[in-house]
Amino acid sequence: MNGIMQPAGLARSESPRPLEGRVALVTGSTSGIGLGIAEALAAQGALIVLNGFAARDAAERLCQDLGTRHDVAVRYDEADMSQAGAIGDMIGRTARVFGPVDILVNNAGIQHVAPIEEFPAEKWDAILAVNLSAVFHTTRAVLAGMKARGWGRIVNVASAHGLVASPFKGAYVAAKHGVVGFTKVTALEAAESGVTCNAVCPGYVLTPLVEKQIDDQARTHNIPRENVVRDVLLKEQPTRRFATVAEIAGTVAFLCSPAAASITGTAIAVDGGWTAH
Ligand code: NAD
Repeated sequence: MNGIMQPAGLARSESPRPLEGRVALVTGSTSGIGLGIAEALAAQGALIVLNGFAARDAAERLCQDLGTRHDVAVRYDEADMSQAGAIGDMIGRTARVFGPVDILVNNAGIQHVAPIEEFPAEKWDAILAVNLSAVFHTTRAVLAGMKARGWGRIVNVASAHGLVASPFKGAYVAAKHGVVGFTKVTALEAAESGVTCNAVCPGYVLTPLVEKQIDDQARTHNIPRENVVRDVLLKEQPTRRFATVAEIAGTVAFLCSPAAASITGTAIAVDGGWTAH
């Protein structure tokens, strides 16, 4: 396995790859923002556990590609983040194969858009499970080990919707506000142990999750896709452009770097000015 050993005589902070040998678990990393975050952490030398829904051969190709390009070990775990038991099993498998998790990025997320009166109860439960409860279950499973080892990074991918609301996104907004609150609690409980916890709050990023919303809204309102993008999605985003996966991933990588050791308990908006309104 390449990329795990530290070059002789070189302290980690002086290494050209500051996360060399660290074990990073990125939930929901088979596509979109999560995959970009996995890429950014692999580029810094971290061993990567990819997670999310994907055909096994496609996931294995992602591992192969990422591992070869960055000379790090990468494995795929198919744990369903809506299931507490599956999350515990994934943390256990990771520890057995790579060692304990040093960097946890809670990124898996789902969305459903509907008025409260019509919001299906099972969609509410599913969104709360994947977007919020999973963050508790993963954190609960790794925090004691991080504290004991005196180093850890937890980054929760929340949303601008963790800071402000929009209509028709009741479950998502509730879950993401919950993530921002839980981030603060985690930061406080870990503050003296070398473990930081922060939330990153993206505005709109063009990923499969947003592509689906564009299609749904275009159908519902019977308007062209470009009007949905301009008049609905980017209406609140003053830069009038999507944030990019690389911009979100770069922020997460920065939060894992030595320069960010005193940043904890924050919610960093990467939203083109949306929450400055
Ligand atoms: P995406 O749909 O491209 O990726 C979501 C990932 O989560 C996929 O890998 C998917 O397989 C995985 N996933 C979904 N349900 C899962 C489950 N039960 N168990 C395991 N994995 C599961 O979405 P994205 O846009 O990349 O979103 C990533 C995160 O960023 C989400 O938390 C989302 O809320 C947040 N976010 C996205 C945007 C945006 O505009 N795209 C904006 C703000 C916040």
